[in-house]
Parts: sequence; C-alpha cells; structure tokens
Amino acid sequence: MHIDTHAHVNFNAYKDDADEVIKRSLSEDVFMINVGSQYSTSKRAVEMANRYETGVWAAVGLYPVQLQKRSFEYQDDYELPQEEIKTIGEEFDYKKYLELAKDEKVVAIGEVGLDYKHFEEGDDIQNLISLQKNIFLEFINIANEVKKPLIIHCWGNYAETKAYDDLLEILQNNPVKKAGVIHSFMGSRKIAKKFIELGYKIGMNGVITYSESYDKLIREMELKDIVLETDCPYLTPVPHKGERNEPLHVRLVAKKIAQIKETSLEELQKMTLHNSQELFDL
Ligand SMILES: [Zn+2]
Repeated sequence: MHIDTHAHVNFNAYKDDADEVIKRSLSEDVFMINVGSQYSTSKRAVEMANRYETGVWAAVGLYPVQLQKRSFEYQDDYELPQEEIKTIGEEFDYKKYLELAKDEKVVAIGEVGLDYKHFEEGDDIQNLISLQKNIFLEFINIANEVKKPLIIHCWGNYAETKAYDDLLEILQNNPVKKAGVIHSFMGSRKIAKKFIELGYKIGMNGVITYSESYDKLIREMELKDIVLETDCPYLTPVPHKGERNEPLHVRLVAKKIAQIKETSLEELQKMTLHNSQELFDL
C-alpha cells in the first residue's frame, strides 16, 4: 500500500473522471490526500473524501499564488473550476477555512506557504510577500486550533530573499503543534536538515525522476524523513512525463527513491507508509 500525500484529483483536470481515477488507485491500494489550493478546490476535496469510506482524505488551504491577481494567460486550466476561469485574488476568510478544517476527513492544512516565483510585471512585490506571510500565519493558527499538520508549498527567490529562508524563520518563531511536510522540496540538504530538525517531513514527487539533480540529497536523507506524493495532475514521473499525472504514479516515485538509496522497494514502501500514517494520523 502507498499513500499519495499530495494529490489534486479535486482539480478541474479530473472533472470528467475523478471517481474513475480514485477507484483505479484504491483498487491498487494507493490511497491519497487531495489538497486544496483555494476555497472552492478545498471544499471539493472535502466533499470528495466524504464520498469514500476509506483511502481518500482532504487538506484545505489557500495556495499563495491565489492571493494575487492573475492575468488570463496565466490561468491554470488544470486547477480552476471552469466557471471561475477569470478569478482574481481570493479574499481570505478565517472562519470559512476553520469550519472546513474541522471536518473529520480533513487531515492537514494545505497547501499553504510562500511562493516568490510567480510574481508578474506590475505586482507590488513587497506587499504581496507580506500578504503571503500574514495569510500563512493565519493558517498556522488554524492548524493549531484543529491540531492538524501543515502541507507547505514553498518556492522561489525574490532578489536576495529566498522563500525557504523566510519560511524557516516563520516556522522557528511560530511553532506548529503537529509540524507537517515541505511538499515538492527543491532546496539544499542544509535547509532540508533544518526543516527536519523542526519535525517536518520532506515530500518527494516525480521531479526526482527528471534528472540526477536530487540523487545526492536523497542519498543523504534518512527514509524516516521522506513522504511520497505526486502533485497530480502536474509533475508526472518518467516514463509518463507529458501525460496527466495521477495518484497511481506515486509508485514510480517510490521505485526511483528505492533505486537511489539502494534499498528494497518493500523497505521503502514500509517506511514511507509509516511516516505518512504517523504524520497525518491515518
Ligand atoms: Zn500541489
């Protein structure tokens, strides 16, 4: 059995076949957490999880990029429900997210965090960065209130400022009761170590199959610190790169890590399963 700890079957990319995709995964013993990126996709993740007796859970959150106005060309058809294609920066509502977060199928708060990579021409960047930080702090409060872990998205640099450094500072100064996972980790071994010291797991997905860039980091990490994810429909692992990703492909991520670490697939599977069950209380 595997758990895909970061899937988006709640996104528009699966509007025609979400249940088929989920059933295909469950029948192969691949369970999943569907992660929200804004209120509508968070709510949909919760509804979806409640349709299944077991094996499907939800995380609710507001992805930092959703805080900024996005130009039409920038729209992500994979993510947004069709009727919201012209959406502009969501207004954060603490109470609405808190209510969703209390649902018993919700096992984490996410994805939330910092994103310094998707700023556009004309953005007031300093303002957006402080907005992202403030909203992230609000979600830390929600996580602590419902005692659930965080699924953190963190990416990019702005001039000299690295999002990972800012994130680390926030987490050091604002302890989270249940820590969480740094999803789609793309940082250095040094920074990974600091997150691990704070109790966080490192989320690995199909990106590690694209090149050898992550081999060294993975070799140096302990299995107890890794959880598996797909981030589907994005980041499809080799040899399916270019196709729409789905939770089943978490097995390819597992296989790649087992190869790099020269360990058996069984051992890798056992450890990462244990890590996710413990982290998300599954
Ligand atoms: Zn994601």
